[in-house]
Amino acid sequence: MVVNTCSVTAEADREARAFVRRVRRRNPAARVVVTGCYAQRAPEEVAALEGVSAVVGNSHKEWLAAIVAESDHAQTSGLISAARLIGAAEVWADDAFAHSWIEGARLEAGAGTQTRPNLKIQEGCGNRCSFCVIPMTRGASRSMAAERVLQRVEEFVATGGRELVLSGINLGRWGRDLDDAQSRRGGLFWLVQQILDQTRLERLRLSSVEPMDWTSELIATMADNRRVASHAHLPLQSGADGVLRRMHRRYRPWHYAEKVNALRTACGDELALGADVMVGFPGETEVEFEESLQFVRSLPLAYLHLFPFSPRPGTAGWAMHREQPVADAVVKERMAQMQTVDREKRAAFRAQMRGRRLSALTLNTPEKLRAEGRTLALTENFLEVELDCKLPANEPVTVRPGDGRNAKMERLVKSQENSDQQA
Ligand code: SF4
Repeated sequence: MVVNTCSVTAEADREARAFVRRVRRRNPAARVVVTGCYAQRAPEEVAALEGVSAVVGNSHKEWLAAIVAESDHAQTSGLISAARLIGAAEVWADDAFAHSWIEGARLEAGAGTQTRPNLKIQEGCGNRCSFCVIPMTRGASRSMAAERVLQRVEEFVATGGRELVLSGINLGRWGRDLDDAQSRRGGLFWLVQQILDQTRLERLRLSSVEPMDWTSELIATMADNRRVASHAHLPLQSGADGVLRRMHRRYRPWHYAEKVNALRTACGDELALGADVMVGFPGETEVEFEESLQFVRSLPLAYLHLFPFSPRPGTAGWAMHREQPVADAVVKERMAQMQTVDREKRAAFRAQMRGRRLSALTLNTPEKLRAEGRTLALTENFLEVELDCKLPANEPVTVRPGDGRNAKMERLVKSQENSDQQA
């Protein structure tokens, strides 16, 4: 059995360990192979877990299938013999990331439960935010070649797919490492244009893009093209200048506010703006927390993703935490205050969208809701709504949000009509 792990927080590590134990208990005869970021960050720790047969870090994930199968290829390529033995487990993990670009599975409409799958086009990150373990577990930034991206998008469209989410660890860095000069110079903006010009994809959504990578061209593309979902997620982390500096983030709060305002001015108030915010970074004073809270309150955000700081071994934040930890009770209290702001922001955005005509895509509806004759849909601007009718997933519709999560379906949008509007 293969267990893919995350290591972004101490909680993620804990869950991975618990999952491995559970897998082992339920399948005592199984060969357990652990891979992913935890396997990369702390291979010895993972190898020491009872019942783990092999540990495959991200550096060797490309060869995971061969290792799992203990195939002839792996044997003859010297891969198996290249493993270290730690206790009873074979371990493949080092810091050679150059060869470790991972191609995801082919994207198909209707495959699995995702109507709007992610297409990962960028891996790794060369920044050094002091709280973040990703540069250690994923290596430097690498991009999927533009040609390959376009091919993957068209493959998805050919299977009936309508909406794709472009994703990456640091999506705004796409293209900077590629040999092709246009990709390198044009970056994400250029790639988005190519997707719009050269594929028939009906809707493209961008996942998280760092604030300073929202160039004026990228903002204009989002504003001017209906095929790009009106949804921008900009990681903030803190609204306090001092905390941002200690986090080694590359922008100040006023830079962030400038980008948010530029997006809002260009795209209008139907744009859903989202932010990641971290609470309890080492040394975060009461004054800094208040500064962050007030800053977040002042922005026209539609939602927040909130995280308590989690010290990660090997990062600068780990050492800072040893010197100036914020007490757990204080972190809890600050999280509660930010959660209140998040609820207010979500409610305000939903209320603001009430009665508007929005385009949406139906999703795979949970059985319980379906039994009630209802259908889940996601609007272009990231509002999840429930329609009072039964529809299959992946249908483009026009909706008007009402009270709560309810929305009225105005009409089913035919695909051709959709493309005419977009032209
Ligand atoms: S930019 Fe994002 S992925 Fe890169 S180091 Fe900072 S938090 Fe981590």
